[in-house]
Amino acid sequence: MALTARSEAAAEAAAPVGGRQLVRDLDELPFDNRFVATLPADEERSPRRRQVAGAAYSWVDPTPVAAPRTVAWSPEVAAQLGLDPSVCESDDFAQVFAGNRVPAGAQPHALAYGGHQFGSWAGQLGDGRAIALGEVVDRDGQHQTLQLKGAGPTPYSRTADGRAVLRSSVREFLCSEAMHHLGIPTTRALSLVLTGDAVVRDVLYDGNPAPEPGAVVCRVAPSFTRFGSFQLPASRGDLGLLRQLVEATIRFDFPELDHGSLEERVARWFREVCDRTADLVVHWMRVGFVHGVLNTDNMSILGLTIDYGPYGWLEDFDPDWTPNTTDAAGRRYRYGAQPQVAQWNLLQLATALVPLTDQPEPLQEALEAYAERYHSGFRAMVVERLGWGAPQEGDDELAAAVFEVLTSAELDQVLFFRQLARVPVDPGTSDDDLLAPLTDAWYRPEQCTGEVRAAAVAWLRAWGRRAVDGGLADDERLARMDAVNPRFVLRNSLAQEAIDAAEQGDPSLVLELLDVLRRPYDEQPGRERFSARRPEWARHRVGCSMLSCSS
Ligand code: AMP
Ligand code: MG
Repeated sequence: MALTARSEAAAEAAAPVGGRQLVRDLDELPFDNRFVATLPADEERSPRRRQVAGAAYSWVDPTPVAAPRTVAWSPEVAAQLGLDPSVCESDDFAQVFAGNRVPAGAQPHALAYGGHQFGSWAGQLGDGRAIALGEVVDRDGQHQTLQLKGAGPTPYSRTADGRAVLRSSVREFLCSEAMHHLGIPTTRALSLVLTGDAVVRDVLYDGNPAPEPGAVVCRVAPSFTRFGSFQLPASRGDLGLLRQLVEATIRFDFPELDHGSLEERVARWFREVCDRTADLVVHWMRVGFVHGVLNTDNMSILGLTIDYGPYGWLEDFDPDWTPNTTDAAGRRYRYGAQPQVAQWNLLQLATALVPLTDQPEPLQEALEAYAERYHSGFRAMVVERLGWGAPQEGDDELAAAVFEVLTSAELDQVLFFRQLARVPVDPGTSDDDLLAPLTDAWYRPEQCTGEVRAAAVAWLRAWGRRAVDGGLADDERLARMDAVNPRFVLRNSLAQEAIDAAEQGDPSLVLELLDVLRRPYDEQPGRERFSARRPEWARHRVGCSMLSCSS
């Protein structure tokens, strides 16, 4: 008997993945909570705000919410966790991932960590509103921590409420999935669930608090350990805990490095963290991602993008831009400063690790290697974006000149690089035809005149000569450039439009963006509005060009 389409889909869904049946009941999630099984817990079991010493985490249950409702879930993350899609549509899914029901095998806890905030040591921070359910073994056998962000107070909540608003949750949910599909290491997001409770926030810290819809995002990552996780015990001279945390991290998250003496392991591991961080920042610079709050508590030990707060996407190319109004004065975390800031953060991590080793030299060498790796990675990335094939002498100057063109007028860097692949390389091309593919990149077309236009044309001709010299066939060059220059990123105004609609009860734009951003390097006919340059209304709008840490 022929299967109907419906039963075929059902049969496929029920097929074992990695030798395992799909999870149809959240009580069957295969938890294996190595972190809490290995590391010391806080002895007190209550969400009372306090300093927590001698422990890597505190036991704390999520606080139930009024009326959980799933807004969106990521099919890729669900599949990675081996979840049957039907589970993700169930009411139980909303209950579990809003924190109202703790599934079998979960051991809810909040992590202790400290950090440097805006350059100053801030002492204990910790998961003030994130509660990890535990680690689930995914379809590849990898441990994935499920963490509910916005799940209520913990010992680390300090003066805040432990909650998150829909606005910041939509931003985190969409951006972490978008980053993944851009090929950038990141924490993931399984779900976005409305709580049915209101949360009061003063968006601009200007004395106008207002209720907003509350939400919980289930974040997913092999580990949520941060640089600040090591800094906290180091700052207290608790070398026993520091050592336990380092050993567990290397054993669980860097098993390939887990051999030799402690000194050797620490050196090898820190070098790996430096390498991963350098590679991560090269990616951010490529796509124009500005994290916004690169405090050491927001630096993942795995080299993942973590903690999506007042982040933004560089549209017109301004290296001094930061989306974070809290950082407007010093611009510590502006786009162009991210490589140096990441190195400063690595230096703080190294400082925390020094007491574990008699040999600090390898840590110093790794910090220097970070700079080298970042710079060579950046150069290779730019040459690839420009479609030049193998690097050649003289590339640095010509590549640097593109950034002069980009700063000579208000030009959209996403559109510029994407469209550059469509600029003719034939030396006989007229100036107009040379500039035509880039028309939409100019925020102020009237700026494309006189010297600015002449400089742009001169650079495009030099770029074209170098591209021809590089020897890639036109179609190959186009394919390679398109593979590193995305058509679609989560432009600040797009996220805001999705938030505005979701706050009115319409999640369709969140879902559509999630789908568009799944294939950021593909042309997607009919979806041009999602790749257009920033609309004028977004230039000075709160939530687009201006974001605060209020979330
Ligand atoms: P962030 O700026 O998001 O990296 O947060 C810095 C610290 O503040 C972390 O310890 C967070 O857990 C904590 N935090 C941020 N928002 C809240 C909140 N609404 N409730 C409790 N803690 C929070
Ligand atoms: Mg944080």
